[in-house]
Amino acid sequence: MLSVLWLLSIISSVPFFAKGDVETSTFYGVQGTGHPLIIKSFPAIDNIQSELYEVYMEPYTYREGNSRAISDKDKQKNSLAQDLRPKSAVAVVTGDGISGEITFFQKQPPAGVVTVTGSVTGLPPGRHGLHIHHAGDLRQGCNELGDHFDPFLLQHGGPKDSLRHVGDLGNIEVGDDGTSEFKIEDAFISLSGGPRSILGRGIVITENEDDLGRGGSAESVRNGSSGKPIACGVIAYVR
Ligand SMILES: [Zn+2]
Repeated sequence: MLSVLWLLSIISSVPFFAKGDVETSTFYGVQGTGHPLIIKSFPAIDNIQSELYEVYMEPYTYREGNSRAISDKDKQKNSLAQDLRPKSAVAVVTGDGISGEITFFQKQPPAGVVTVTGSVTGLPPGRHGLHIHHAGDLRQGCNELGDHFDPFLLQHGGPKDSLRHVGDLGNIEVGDDGTSEFKIEDAFISLSGGPRSILGRGIVITENEDDLGRGGSAESVRNGSSGKPIACGVIAYVR
């Protein structure tokens, strides 16, 4: 504990025990707005505690020639600060007779849950896999998007598994009218940079149901035996 306090003293450039009283001493990393640290256990799945953590601090931002961090009010005009505000993205999904939109919203980037909301028509009734793939290159339609987005080199799984591809969003249900309306909340994907960012990547609806890696075959642990893509789109920022 003492060594930690010593480190804080060095960082803050003032004695931590300046008044000889811990209760009244205050630590400021940078004088000014007091930005919070965001510490997130990873993977962030209900009831599973991981030994891995991601730690973020909202960056202090400075106007050119000014040594003080800019105020919260001025942050509204600053692009770096804006980069940490809630984010939205959308994928326009198309296939043979299939069309729809899938939107993504992250209230608290970079670590917050992403809400995925979709409305797609023209699909065969039943269950179909929904996955984010590594690439977003649509020059060959849905065929050159690579494997499921998997920055941590894991096996395929279901959306509630702690070990899975980041791109594994499970299945969507399609009604007899060929329409699917769905809402998924996922804590693995992110819209804000970093290794889990899904921006610019492809999102694919597959012809078959995803077995969530439980099929007992090589194909199952690769892609859930979910078959070929029948519709896809690219995930892009919303203005
Ligand atoms: Zn997968």
